[in-house]
Amino acid sequence: MAKVVFLDRDGVINRYPGNGNYVTSCRGFKLIPGAIEAIKKIKKGGFKIFVVSNQSGVAKGKYSEKTLKQINRRLNFKLWLRKTSIDAICYCTHSNEDNCSCRKPKTGLLDKAISGLEEKIELSFFIGDSFVDMVTAQNFGAKTILLLSGKEKLKNRKNWLFEPDYIFDNLLLASNFLLNNYA
Ligand SMILES: [Mg+2]
Ligand SMILES: [Zn+2]
Repeated sequence: MAKVVFLDRDGVINRYPGNGNYVTSCRGFKLIPGAIEAIKKIKKGGFKIFVVSNQSGVAKGKYSEKTLKQINRRLNFKLWLRKTSIDAICYCTHSNEDNCSCRKPKTGLLDKAISGLEEKIELSFFIGDSFVDMVTAQNFGAKTILLLSGKEKLKNRKNWLFEPDYIFDNLLLASNFLLNNYA
């Protein structure tokens, strides 16, 4: 049986580029302090980690799939330096109008990410910084962990569609929680 953590990318691993903005280059990909350590801890806790990220800037021509691959290489290298890794990084590069089956809050990207898993999933969490992520998690049946390191802020709480299962300031604090309770 597998334990799985889905991670959003922007605002979770790297700094949120701001509403309506995108990370359009490797230079714009700035890691949030503690993110690599957090990934290492989650892996140590026996979880598979899948990054699932909407990147509609590709469909809009703001950057290319090649840029996304360069960013992946950079991230994977930093993980390798710390002797850890992510199991897969999956992107939806479509725009809303494409009406694809992978753009969050649809679950196609998650289905794709886990398609190589041989074991059944016994426990899954989705860690994200937006309510699109939280709704995606619910659609999939994963527990919801909202981080306040990106798009969503506590002051919007009264407008939230629902209360996430857990809320943390950043990925490192979420990883400590997972390690302490689900390792
Ligand atoms: Mg995000
Ligand atoms: Zn898509």
